[in-house]
Amino acid sequence: MICSVDELQKYLKLTDSERRWFSSKSKSFPFLVTPYYLSLIDPDNPNDPIRRQVIPLSEEFLNSKGESLDPQRENSYSVLPNLVHRYDNRAALLLTNKCATNCRHCFRRRYTSEEDIIISEKELKSVLSYLKDNLQIKELLLTGGDPLTLSDQKLDNIIGLIREARKDIVLRLGSRVVVTAPKRITESLVSMLRKYNKAALYLLTQFNHPKELTKESLEAVSLFIDNGIPVLNQCVLLRGVNDDVTTLETLMNSLVANRIKPYYLFQGDLVSGTAHLRVPLKRGLELEYQLRKRLSGLAMPQYAVDLPKGGGKVSLGRSYLKDNDENGNYCFETMEGERRIYSDPTC
Ligand SMILES: *Cc1c(COP(=O)(O)O)cnc(C)c1O
Ligand code: SF4
Repeated sequence: MICSVDELQKYLKLTDSERRWFSSKSKSFPFLVTPYYLSLIDPDNPNDPIRRQVIPLSEEFLNSKGESLDPQRENSYSVLPNLVHRYDNRAALLLTNKCATNCRHCFRRRYTSEEDIIISEKELKSVLSYLKDNLQIKELLLTGGDPLTLSDQKLDNIIGLIREARKDIVLRLGSRVVVTAPKRITESLVSMLRKYNKAALYLLTQFNHPKELTKESLEAVSLFIDNGIPVLNQCVLLRGVNDDVTTLETLMNSLVANRIKPYYLFQGDLVSGTAHLRVPLKRGLELEYQLRKRLSGLAMPQYAVDLPKGGGKVSLGRSYLKDNDENGNYCFETMEGERRIYSDPTC
């Protein structure tokens, strides 16, 4: 792990803004990167898309309109310590706040900035009884931080207890480790996990740029898929990283070619200190429109935004339904920009 400026400077020359971040006393979200992820950076390019995801800039100290540390109000939706129950049929369980690499766009930095947190046995016990009492919860997201920073043994123990409590619950393991530390994914980790996929266990990754699809990361992904764990990707739309249609098109097509289903494309959350990484919403909508023209239904992710003040996720995109009248005639615009009328049945 590389977490100090001295170590970092062996690999690349810092820009002024980067240097200002490291020398400031007001930094709160630590710098952390794996040697592997750092090695993907082209040291001669200050705008390298990997660099912009992990090397902090002094812009992080700015507070922009509407930003807060917990825009999703996860603290108020925490029904128990570490359990966020925002949507009736699904919940998110935060197992640890540690990550292999700290992403500068992290929306959960209020939590990932803290000293090491791991869910305790006592806390887990309360979660288990909550899951047993709330059978409307059909899916449980195992998240953090990054759950795969925990040892195989710890994970085995936690997931085993969850499976024992709820044989039916669909599990989603959210992890960026395949992208930032693919060597963590071993045969023994995956064979431990496959014990628990009788009700589906999905891996949710976060590939944000085609450069991240390396031989190592794709091997890690294959280990999951070959062992019956399907892989979905949640991409974050990031200014200066992936905010152009060709990059996103290449990313989504490469994911599909490697058996990963693009699930979400997230508009940046209004998290303090991330304005320089957010793409204006209007630009995001234009990218969605262009992508929809170029990508198959399989390769196209859902463009979505998690609304501030705990408003929850809503999907974004162009509407092709332009108008409708009281007689049940609907006026659409085709992908080619032509008009078509669709009518409701009259009998
Ligand atoms: C995003 C999220 C989920 C999962 O939502 P999906 O739209 O099903 O992917 C569940 N709980 C919380 C708190 C979330 O933020
Ligand atoms: S891996 Fe996820 S939780 Fe960890 S720093 Fe990145 S975005 Fe935040």
